[in-house]
Amino acid sequence: MAAALAAAHQGAEVVLLEKRGQLGGTTSIAVGSFTAACTSIQKAAGIDDDPEWHNEDIGKFNPPLEPKNNRALRGCFTRQAHETLRWLMDLGLEFHGPSPEPPNRVPRMHNVVPNAKAYIAVMHRRLLAHGAEILLRHQVQRLFRHEDGPVVGLEARTQDGAVRIRARRGVILAAGDYANGLEIKSQYLPDEVATVEGINPDATGDGHRIARDIGAELLNMDVVYGPEIRFVAPPRAPFAQLLPANPLLAKLLGKAMDLLPKPVLQRMLKRLLVTWQHPEVSLFHKGAILVNRNGQRFTDEADRPELAIPRQPDKVAYILLDKKLADVFSAWPNFVSTAPDIAYAYMQDYKRLRADVYAEATTAAELARSIGVDAGAVEATLGDYNQACLGKSKDPFGRTDFGPPLDAPPFIALGPVKSWIVTTEGGLRISEKMEVLDAEGVVIPGLYAGGCNGMGGMILWGHGLHIAWALTSGRLAGRIAAGRTAD
Ligand SMILES: Cc1cc2nc3c(=O)[nH]c(=O)nc-3n(C[C@H](O)[C@H](O)[C@H](O)COP(=O)(O)OP(=O)(O)OC[C@H]3O[C@@H](n4cnc5c(N)ncnc54)[C@H](O)[C@@H]3O)c2cc1C
Repeated sequence: MAAALAAAHQGAEVVLLEKRGQLGGTTSIAVGSFTAACTSIQKAAGIDDDPEWHNEDIGKFNPPLEPKNNRALRGCFTRQAHETLRWLMDLGLEFHGPSPEPPNRVPRMHNVVPNAKAYIAVMHRRLLAHGAEILLRHQVQRLFRHEDGPVVGLEARTQDGAVRIRARRGVILAAGDYANGLEIKSQYLPDEVATVEGINPDATGDGHRIARDIGAELLNMDVVYGPEIRFVAPPRAPFAQLLPANPLLAKLLGKAMDLLPKPVLQRMLKRLLVTWQHPEVSLFHKGAILVNRNGQRFTDEADRPELAIPRQPDKVAYILLDKKLADVFSAWPNFVSTAPDIAYAYMQDYKRLRADVYAEATTAAELARSIGVDAGAVEATLGDYNQACLGKSKDPFGRTDFGPPLDAPPFIALGPVKSWIVTTEGGLRISEKMEVLDAEGVVIPGLYAGGCNGMGGMILWGHGLHIAWALTSGRLAGRIAAGRTAD
């Protein structure tokens, strides 16, 4: 959408194809954070920053992956991101922040108000105003390329058959990630990871496949964000997610958020935290166990349990704790989930804000019944685990990292939890002009990529970078493609 809008701003005739019945993709289900350096919002808050510092700090989020990262392209991204934020604000979007997220040396995270759907609503309105043609339920299947020459068009599948579209200036691929693309994941990842579902069921890696079919090179396809354990979604979206993305309301909320007392803001953030953030692994290292719908343990909880959950009935599990452990996770520094340095959620927050994933009872049998699991099985599981924990028997799953036994009532179950792949880092090799390159590094004329399609070898660990990149690369690709004259 950013690419289409930027191209339309240059006077290009634009056709946007979307495979679903509505616009939005993964962007619309995201939290909406946009991380950037040297923004006008930072400046207004008196924060001195530098895009090169930002580039360096991104590299500190996951040092083992840094050698695989495309630092040069990332530098181009960090230099451009603040202009994208300005562009979005000029379109009518409001942001709250900046919030800190170490190891970023200064606060850089800007959160769109009221939620990520605002990006979609605002860009949609602008596209319509510019006369862009939006074709829903058009799934792009393949690109047409003249031998080793330019890309000249595409074919899309619709309910009424195939449609071919000629592209005079170019095609920009922005078809999202492959978190749920079993076929493409299986080619690059071990089975135990490839078979884990993506949070967005429609993120099937179409763009990656379509470009590869005409000779484009894919980089870092083995790098994915997850699998990660998360609580199932609440029955109702939290208040902030339900707010309509109306520009006037966003303006009012943006101002109101600046004036809200910190405790009120923290409370709002906690509600989002318990909805979206994953439970910390320290829960398991300090003694929590996982049981499946049959009330049985199934893995060493201290060793990547996220890989075992997808093989359980209904692909779900429950985290079991007793009072001793719940007390530990009721105060700093032991939180159940966090958005680092912004807010921390403890057991009492889950009890208060996520009653749908919190159960408590004075006996293990009662607890089991309250979550619909066989009471005898849970009692036996706890008994066996406590024996292993006390060194009286060998743990059948090889667990050696135990906390104290789980024997103090009340007993607590958090869940259901599931494992998901959140997003993916692999993408097409691209130039700093968003042009797609082949394995020899040669430009495929007329083909551009943005967002998760055009990752170009970058690995964007840390919050707010994927949206900032999707919108920055889209804005640049649209502008550049619109200026291209056909070969
Ligand atoms: C729960 C969650 C929270 C997140 N929160 C944040 C956050 O706060 N900040 C952040 O930076 N990142 C966040 N991310 C990651 C981020 O949202 C995504 O990486 C980013 O939005 C991807 O943008 P995109 O434009 O590449 O893809 P998308 O937004 O997925 O857009 C791709 C579009 O292409 C369409 N499409 C796919 N294939 C075809 C085809 N063959 N033909 C036609 N159309 C097609 C899709 O339906 C979709 O509408 C989050 C991810 C998740 C899952």
